[in-house]
Amino acid sequence: MTEVVRTRTELRAALGHAARPIGLVTTMGWLHDGHRALMRTARAENPTTVATIFVNPRQFNEASDYTQYPRNEARDIEICADEAVDIVFAPNVEEIYPDGFDTTVSVGAVAQPLEGAARPGHFDGVATVVAILFDLVGADRAYFGQKDAQQVMVIRQMARDLAIGTEVISLPTIRETDGLAMSSRNVHLSPDERQAAGVLHRALEAAHEAWSTGERSADALRSMMRDILAGEPLADVDYISVADGRTLRELETIDGPALASLAVRFGSTRLIDNEPLEEPPGTTPPPQVYGG
Ligand code: AMP
Repeated sequence: MTEVVRTRTELRAALGHAARPIGLVTTMGWLHDGHRALMRTARAENPTTVATIFVNPRQFNEASDYTQYPRNEARDIEICADEAVDIVFAPNVEEIYPDGFDTTVSVGAVAQPLEGAARPGHFDGVATVVAILFDLVGADRAYFGQKDAQQVMVIRQMARDLAIGTEVISLPTIRETDGLAMSSRNVHLSPDERQAAGVLHRALEAAHEAWSTGERSADALRSMMRDILAGEPLADVDYISVADGRTLRELETIDGPALASLAVRFGSTRLIDNEPLEEPPGTTPPPQVYGG
């Protein structure tokens, strides 16, 4: 049975009899198969699964993005029940940020580029709410999507630095059949924009393909992605990045784990996606070619 709780007190009571370890999936609702995959893994790896549904006002840098963020709590709760989530914590804003709340968790270098630069204050809002949720739930493990790769890195840094014992686990991006990463924001796309949005993954796949056949110039990959995106008139590029996979600093030469990532607007909807440029665990890197 899925128990839905709305206050810190109700959450504490529900957790009183919960078996450990506790797996946590934090969401902003409007749940899709990406969220389901996180819940399923949490469920498989932990005797207790907690999901949170909270549209966090502090991580939105545009007021209209917050007010227009899609919401359907009844449906979300059904999905959590369908995934056999034990406890759904769906608080209101005052429950998370009570009167007098005045602390911000601000992560350093890894939170600065890409989404950090494009959306000032975004990661402060994310790190602050996730720190609160980790603590309220007492999560042993928390599951996040690779789709928001920088977010995972920011949360890992935050948990390490603040000695928060929650293990941060990242799971692969779940995609639509044309490769578009599932996202709650996809609902805002018009039919034309929805069709055009497939270009994000096509551009990332092309970069990955070039990288896997030996291209090591980051600029070559950036221009390849720029050209593919330019072929889609509805795509309005925000950034195109090929960065170090550990620091997110932009690269000239790819000489270790890297991350290709994109932020692109389709009309008023801003979408992000990424592709790691690294060998999957357990594979042998391609042979080095030495000049001379
Ligand atoms: P959100 O509700 O968008 O804040 O996302 C909640 C969690 O689901 C975050 O850890 C996201 O990275 C993850 N997530 C969102 N979309 C996907 C997806 N398409 N595949 C896998 N995880 C996702």
